[in-house]
Amino acid sequence: MDLLLIIIPILFVILFVIFMIRFGSKRKMNKYLVEARRTEYLHKLKQNCLSNNNCVEPPVKSHNQDGVNAINFKNNCGNAINSDIDESDNDSDNVESFNDDNENDKTNTNRSDDFEDNFYEDSSDSSSSENNYCTIDEFRDELVSTFLQVNINHIQGDQILTTLRKHHCFQTLPRSTRSLLHTPRKHHTTIPMDPDGEYYHIGFKKQIIEKLQLLSATEIPNYLQIDLHTDGMSIHKSTGIQLWPIQFRIVSIYNDSPEIIGIYKGKKKPSDPVQFFQYFIQEFQEIENTNGIEFKGKLIPIFLRAFIADAPARAFILNHKGHNAARPCSKCIVEGKKIEKTMCFTELNSCLRSDLDYMNAVDKKHHSQKNQSALKSINFPMVTYVPFEYMHLICLGVVKKFLTAIITNQYDFKKLTKSDISKINSNILLLQSYCPTEFARRPRSIDEYAKFKATEYRQLLLYTGPVIFFNILKGDSYLHFLLLHSACRVLLMSGPSEINLEYAEIALKVYVECCESIYGQTFMSYNIHGLLHVVQDVKLLGPMDSYSAFPYEDNMSFFGKFFRKPNQLLQQLHRRLTERKHCHKSKHEQFEIQPLYQHHHGPLTENISGDFIQFKGLKFEHFRIMAGSKRDSCLLLKNGIICEVQNIIKVSSNQYVLIVKEFHNITHFYEIPYTITSSHVGVYKCCNLLEAMTTINLNEIYAKCYRIPFHNNEGINDGTFIVAAFLSY
Ligand SMILES: [Zn+2]
Ligand SMILES: [Zn+2]
Repeated sequence: MDLLLIIIPILFVILFVIFMIRFGSKRKMNKYLVEARRTEYLHKLKQNCLSNNNCVEPPVKSHNQDGVNAINFKNNCGNAINSDIDESDNDSDNVESFNDDNENDKTNTNRSDDFEDNFYEDSSDSSSSENNYCTIDEFRDELVSTFLQVNINHIQGDQILTTLRKHHCFQTLPRSTRSLLHTPRKHHTTIPMDPDGEYYHIGFKKQIIEKLQLLSATEIPNYLQIDLHTDGMSIHKSTGIQLWPIQFRIVSIYNDSPEIIGIYKGKKKPSDPVQFFQYFIQEFQEIENTNGIEFKGKLIPIFLRAFIADAPARAFILNHKGHNAARPCSKCIVEGKKIEKTMCFTELNSCLRSDLDYMNAVDKKHHSQKNQSALKSINFPMVTYVPFEYMHLICLGVVKKFLTAIITNQYDFKKLTKSDISKINSNILLLQSYCPTEFARRPRSIDEYAKFKATEYRQLLLYTGPVIFFNILKGDSYLHFLLLHSACRVLLMSGPSEINLEYAEIALKVYVECCESIYGQTFMSYNIHGLLHVVQDVKLLGPMDSYSAFPYEDNMSFFGKFFRKPNQLLQQLHRRLTERKHCHKSKHEQFEIQPLYQHHHGPLTENISGDFIQFKGLKFEHFRIMAGSKRDSCLLLKNGIICEVQNIIKVSSNQYVLIVKEFHNITHFYEIPYTITSSHVGVYKCCNLLEAMTTINLNEIYAKCYRIPFHNNEGINDGTFIVAAFLSY
């Protein structure tokens, strides 16, 4: 009896401890979310929902979804290079390297796979669209872009031109590749910088004017808002040579692509940021002194909007101590502590820095003493307008770290079992035939996660992750991932509502707050800390894609492959860039919707009559639709309906209608307790595709969607899909 009296309480204590370990972090997460509910935020959310026909519910016909009001189709991250930053590395040798395999080629292969997939899917005899032969001028332009694409050398090019000119049609082609491609003759001289480096200045003002000259009168902006970017890359692995380009983009011109202002070549990164930027700064100050750039009799003022860089490049331009120092954050004075060789940042509410203090470099623990920031001389607000950029911070930083945590034993998290991993992989295998054409890379085995490119982490975070980790990540860690996923989707929408931004802020705070209890202290790195500043950057600069490193890194991968000889790198670069500019010049025109693959196989609906032509595909500026394709046929309409395109009909010269089947049941897929459901961020669960077909007009389309087959708890797919609306690609 006495013994029992002792054993029973002990048993209770043990059970309680087990309970706390198992559910502790989940309770913590819920506690934070409950706190969030008590804030004014939820009050507002409620009001907003009431005034919006209760938008927490999934869409019904003629229902306006708050969360997905204006998703943009802007495509600016086609194919990113591999640029993993290992946080444990010292920043001095943190330079991205280019793999020998060529990103652009890969993309092209992917695309042509698709062409076949779609083309032969269910009608092998579709006749191709109108066969127009091009004029000699168009032929010449095509030849230029082909020469550039295959990176032909001038000797080969000259021989092809000689052969072509033997036919009378091609008499007007130039004799030499040099004149076909407008390769500059003049040899520009480079400027020596550092003991064994050199810098080549292409020019800033000159290129702005070139960009303006390509615009029509109505497209010329009232002011020039400039984003700058710099990052290092190594090209020849054996020689260890690094290139550091300074790139810029005019944000106030629609779809403007980055160009290189100047580029440094050396064995190491440039030693002095002030010296590295001096030629740009000089030009910028000259423009400022004349109050802008004069163009066609109009004075256009210029502003520097943001400086975009990854962690090591930020430290370089801002001249602060690397991200392994105790106070590396340029936004707040968070203090790191060293645990098992990693700097960990567990504080959540550190004091924010001010632009003025930053300018005067008052924090001796933060600013590096040996140089000065390059941006000081132009009074650039370095705290506010040097954002945390999401390609490096979130895709290559946080998402990669999360995968490391669940797949390896590196953090305090019980890694996934072999059978879980193989479940994930079989899910991914299935996804390969559903991944839309716009994604540069198909999903691949999670075992290769360490070698993923930024776009692959991105796809996992924004689209496929919630499905492939469903029923695999248990309870708290799954919800934890959904917080990051849903917050990032909000931060990539164009014009998210105030309410949605407040949700993202709370979600990321709770995410960071719970990292420690789920993955342990060493998970709390500089990148995790950076999440606390992301929403503020979005409020100032717009959706994360509008200031991401993706377009700049694409540009770097473009010229990374164009070096023919190891010497005279910078001169070669100048030649290749000039050739490309000429090629682009001839291509600046308005985009028109293009039909693809004419056919006559139906299906048709009764209201289609008279003269019409049927097509398999339709190409829009930033995405394409392919009728009946697993990848490219799923659409979200403005009225909340989700449908699958069955056929494309050209009813008059420039008018198309789509024949579609609708999903009968549309609900949300997940719910974040006390806050939002997945339909607020454009993610739905659909089933029961109706057999009946209807027609819709193109202006009813809201967004193309990525649809993902969904297996229920028994692992069976009963025709249910998780559908995620495109943000950008
Ligand atoms: Zn990078
Ligand atoms: Zn901070």
